Amino acid sequence: MKWGVMRHIAGILKQYWGYEDFLPLQREAIACGVGGRDSLVVLPTGGGKSLCFQVPAVRLPGLAIVVSPLISLMKDQVDALTECGVAAACINSSQNPDEQDDVIASIRRGDLKILYVSPERLMMNGFADFLNQHTISLIAIDEAHCVSMWGHDFRPEYRRLGSLKTSFPGVAVHAYTATATEQVRNDIVQQLHLVRPEILVGSFDRPNLLYSVERRTDVLRQVRDVLDRHKDESSIVYCIRRTDVDDLTEQLQAAGYRTAAYHAGLTDDARRQAQNAFIKEDVDIIVATVAFGMGINKTNVRAVIHAGMPKSLEHYQQESGRAGRDGLDAECILLYGSGDYGTWKYIIEQSESEAAVRIALIKLGDMSAYAAGVTCRHQALVTYFGQRLATDNCKACDVCFGDLELADDALVLGQKILSCVFRLNQRYGADYTANVLVGSKEQRILEARHDQLTTYGLLSDYTKKLVRDWIEQLVGQGYLQKGGEYSVLTITERGWRAIRGDETPRLLKPAASPRKRVSEDSWEGVDRGLFDTLRVVRRKIATLRQVPAYVVFGDASLRDMARRKPSTVDAFLEVTGVGQAKARQYGEEFVATIAEYCRSHSLEMDVDPNLRPAPKPSAMGKQRTARSTLNLSKQLAFGRFDKGESIVAVSDAIERKPETALKYLLDYIAQKKLTRPEPWVDTATFKQIAAAVETVGTARTMAILKELNGTVDYDQIKISLACLANIE
Ligand code: ADP
Repeated sequence: MKWGVMRHIAGILKQYWGYEDFLPLQREAIACGVGGRDSLVVLPTGGGKSLCFQVPAVRLPGLAIVVSPLISLMKDQVDALTECGVAAACINSSQNPDEQDDVIASIRRGDLKILYVSPERLMMNGFADFLNQHTISLIAIDEAHCVSMWGHDFRPEYRRLGSLKTSFPGVAVHAYTATATEQVRNDIVQQLHLVRPEILVGSFDRPNLLYSVERRTDVLRQVRDVLDRHKDESSIVYCIRRTDVDDLTEQLQAAGYRTAAYHAGLTDDARRQAQNAFIKEDVDIIVATVAFGMGINKTNVRAVIHAGMPKSLEHYQQESGRAGRDGLDAECILLYGSGDYGTWKYIIEQSESEAAVRIALIKLGDMSAYAAGVTCRHQALVTYFGQRLATDNCKACDVCFGDLELADDALVLGQKILSCVFRLNQRYGADYTANVLVGSKEQRILEARHDQLTTYGLLSDYTKKLVRDWIEQLVGQGYLQKGGEYSVLTITERGWRAIRGDETPRLLKPAASPRKRVSEDSWEGVDRGLFDTLRVVRRKIATLRQVPAYVVFGDASLRDMARRKPSTVDAFLEVTGVGQAKARQYGEEFVATIAEYCRSHSLEMDVDPNLRPAPKPSAMGKQRTARSTLNLSKQLAFGRFDKGESIVAVSDAIERKPETALKYLLDYIAQKKLTRPEPWVDTATFKQIAAAVETVGTARTMAILKELNGTVDYDQIKISLACLANIE
């Protein structure tokens, strides 16, 4: 692409969307759009596919047609474009005739740049002829894998899109998808009759997702552990069965989590309500079956928990991929149990044809191997989709992150387990075998006289959970296999090689000191209190305009605001994701909120994030320094709190961030059992907060912040809550 055109494109990206740079392959995909060359673009979820056709649509004369199967998503896409100042509309069966007429009229007037249509509507008699009376800039086909029978989401109505190249002669067609094996890719090109298309395939890896796998032991506790790491943020919990969804929802609600359930057994209304509540952030958590997700474009989902194993890695990639679409860190955790394979096998065998069952069982086997596997999760996922990661350490999964480490005596451990399976005549399951190995006094073991075996209690130095995990790992690596109705363990050829010492399995155990789970880099320099205050403003605007919160601004933009703290609308334009339309529309309100917050916290504004003290010490170095000075700085802080000094003054004195000083103050209040928050919070504000706690019936900061419409700030609430907690 010519340099002048490129500069213009970059200008459009900044002016309308507020982005400085292109995401990988976006530039190339946009070049195809602008240059009118057919293309097939395969990028992972969150890879920024929409901009690949939206930017050319703005640049080129005429109207761009975007075909999407997800009617529910169209409105959000149109709202998001309108917010950015791009004239867009959609036309589909959910609209009444008047609404459809309005759209037709605006096409006639030439007012629109982008039109979203369902495939059925586009192929309806006469519609293509009508559109052909106008200049069509390009045709974009979203979720293009729906055209292929080999894909996981085939839609017959997509097949008819093959005639587009003849109905719209001379107009370039561009196809976009997140999941495509080579077979699906070829099929898309063929079915859509793309002409010499540029095929752009991005990396399937999602480096911002932190993958981990745990064996399911106490599902409620394990799910709560993850949710607690993401308080007040959005999470999705997937279950295999509807009853699991209902049970878990009830338990989470009873424990005070703002949760809604979603599955195909609920009425349309109930499902819509749950989905809207999640999108509008009236609930934080959605517990669902696989029925949930298509058409959810929420960008700030911070955790996707699978409470049961999905039936294929395609499903896992797609479902877990709903986390962190905004590019910020998010966590994907799979809790799997030994019964999951059997549950799926039963479901698959009930409902599918013989050939389909065979394929589905192979996919299920691959999924099981992932769950029990001990190689880097990112590597395992991209390998499945035919790619390789350049690095051996993704730094974003339980294996590479150091939550797990290799057991040094893996050969001996493996041999002990394999011998025990042999001594049990290869007639027992994993659970029973683990019990024998750890020397359990269970009645059935004693009755069978298995306490007399030489392998009884051979691994009594380890927990049963760990031994059980090792058995699964041996199954995953093909040393053992499970068979029959009771998943009885038998030794494979490979297993015998290990017994003879010709091969060593890889066995993982929890690391002695696991490292932090969620990277804090994307919070670097962000004032958490200001971020929460800005979320309230965003929510208020979103409710008023009846759009999802992320359509107003994504989390990445709010974090950047809470980092840069712009004092003018011009400075606000520097924030990532702030284009001119949004700056015009919301700039003043956000800048005023930021200014007020900074004034009350004596914070500097217009911070240039590039000038922050840059090189971070290594994780080890950081830990060591932190440990050796922690008590000292806390003691210093306590001495200053005794004198009634402000958080900002204390944070300066101890050379720690204000958030740390606040944390020390909360510890101080707890230790001194203070019941009144002066001088840090005045009495009137304290009373207001105490009253709000009564009304909302909970001591959760966000709820109180909302109740008081953001008139008090985050720190004041935290401090007041700490004092209220000391009142008997
Ligand atoms: P996909 O359709 O591939 O899943 P989206 O088009 O929804 O991805 O984009 C995912 C997120 O990335 C959105 O929040 C979008 O605004 C953001 N995004 C897209 N392009 C850029 C860019 N060049 N710089 C920063 N963020 C971007």
